Amino acid sequence: MGGIELRRGVVVDMPRLLAGLWGGLLGGGRAEWVHRRVESISHLLATHDALILTAGATAASIPGLAGLPIKPVRGQNVYYGRAPVDDGGDGGGGGGGGSPTATAVPPPPLPLLCKKYVIPKAAADEVLVGATWEHPGPGVDLAAPPDVAAAAAALADEVAGLWGGAAPGGGTGWRPVRAVAGVRGLPPRGPAGALPLANVLTTSDGEVAHGGRAWAFVGLGSRGILYAALIAGELATAVTTANVAALCPEVRRLPLVATATSTTAATPATAVNTNTADAADAADAADAAAAAAASAATTADSAEAAAAARGHA
Ligand SMILES: Cc1cc2nc3c(=O)[nH]c(=O)nc-3n(C[C@H](O)[C@H](O)[C@H](O)COP(=O)(O)OP(=O)(O)OC[C@H]3O[C@@H](n4cnc5c(N)ncnc54)[C@H](O)[C@@H]3O)c2cc1C
Repeated sequence: MGGIELRRGVVVDMPRLLAGLWGGLLGGGRAEWVHRRVESISHLLATHDALILTAGATAASIPGLAGLPIKPVRGQNVYYGRAPVDDGGDGGGGGGGGSPTATAVPPPPLPLLCKKYVIPKAAADEVLVGATWEHPGPGVDLAAPPDVAAAAAALADEVAGLWGGAAPGGGTGWRPVRAVAGVRGLPPRGPAGALPLANVLTTSDGEVAHGGRAWAFVGLGSRGILYAALIAGELATAVTTANVAALCPEVRRLPLVATATSTTAATPATAVNTNTADAADAADAADAAAAAAASAATTADSAEAAAAARGHA
């Protein structure tokens, strides 16, 4: 099987990356993190200079944004942990009593990528494999909790071609121990592939909507971490200079259409949880547990903030 061996590959630890990014922004007092479900673009624009919508796979569910061309596809990653080595006779992935002659499959020495990927997590003696592609349809609940057994079974055949530890039937010295799930927001493919979409919001007639103050950065798909910092830098320039051309043509290849919605019936914020939030605001935070910051209030500091983010990335 062909593939890419990342001899100098590194694994990006997302919680650490995000903590670093936010630390750089919040620590300098240049940004405020507000947990609030965005239900009205107009409502936000009443109190902010500009809005960059980054609501991921569900962006099109925000009123007025149903025209965003984003397709949600669920994905799961599976973590393999050490298991007793056996002959696979239990068929269950290594739960047997062990064999004196069998040896465990070693973890891959490097991250491997060939459609599926296998990533050794040395610190935890775990191997991360991924990811499933679960398209909307019968039997697929995009919001379902992770299902380690189902995800491991779905991945086993393809992943085993990269790493024997995941071979179906077990007996490899490894077994799936947990899974994580998320939903990708896929863009339509362009000539250069499934690149993300970033643009100012327009009306269905092609006119700039919301006075040119509302933008979106969506469709980051299955490789969003690769593109985020680069495109965020271009986007900060585009927003602060009101110049769409600051975005590379591939990411502004499609219009991002905002349909007309009421500008007065803004739903009150359901929750606020910030470093300056008062107790009443914080009491509603549970309602918005699933909603991370999806808007960025852009001020003169936004380009500087984006630059800081790039520095941390
Ligand atoms: C299983 C899996 C494996 C992946 N592996 C990789 C990989 O190896 N490399 C890689 O580069 N990428 C990978 N990705 C893709 C990567 O995770 C995405 O491209 C990236 O997370 C997209 O970032 P985003 O900020 O656009 O969207 P998200 O990370 O989805 O963030 C959007 C946020 O907006 C919030 N939100 C939505 N609606 C609202 C609203 N109305 N109000 C307020 N907040 C709202 C959501 O709660 C969410 O927090 C993977 C994805 C999955 C699912």
